[in-house]
Amino acid sequence: MIDMHTHLDLYPDALKILDKVNKDNLFTLAVTTSPRAWIATSKVFEKYKNIHVSVGLHPEIVEAKANELDLLIDCIKTTNFVGEVGIDGSNRFSKSLLLQTSIFERVLQECESQNGKIISIHSRGAESTVLNLLSKYSNCGTPILHWFTGKVGELENAIELDCWFSINPAMCNTQKGLSLIAKIPKNRILPESDGPFATVKNNTIYPWEAINIVSTLEKIWQCNYTDVILQLKINLNTILEATDE
Ligand code: MN
Repeated sequence: MIDMHTHLDLYPDALKILDKVNKDNLFTLAVTTSPRAWIATSKVFEKYKNIHVSVGLHPEIVEAKANELDLLIDCIKTTNFVGEVGIDGSNRFSKSLLLQTSIFERVLQECESQNGKIISIHSRGAESTVLNLLSKYSNCGTPILHWFTGKVGELENAIELDCWFSINPAMCNTQKGLSLIAKIPKNRILPESDGPFATVKNNTIYPWEAINIVSTLEKIWQCNYTDVILQLKINLNTILEATDE
């Protein structure tokens, strides 16, 4: 029904599933990993009205793509949706941490000067740095922390900073994921697949399967399927009202 963070251009069968994604989902946000990818993907996805493409620069590949920063900044001026951007604090990417941080800061600054964007944000292992920057650029728009895996205190801080959260079926399969989801206010949650990277039982999650989080939300929120769907639709509308989409 809704997929707020998918790498739709990176599924091996991407072109074959576009019709189904467009038909099954009310709204899909296809995040990209570089502005060049955004330009190419936007052209291919253009005719699918329920699929929106956001311009990003993935923190894991900033070293290779840092030369696209000016292009990224130009592209941000022409769209409401930004992502995947953010910071990855894992050891694997420690060499690029300063570069990642400066690029993310530049992105938030631009989003703020463009009156706010919807921003899908990667924060793994760098939650406190990401949150510090979000509090510095508090008019950057609507930050959505995708697949948040930080500490409870960081989650509370993020909620205070008016962050949203996109959560996926893989998170619903871990104790930590479930305990974080239980602490997120109902009106700040949206589904995501993070496919083709996120998997459940070794199966790639497809954009129409992001909605499988509903069974978890039914239990946590103590309400039925219809109520969960209604809440998620309200959330989607709330977030889109902030833009002219
Ligand atoms: Mn992702």
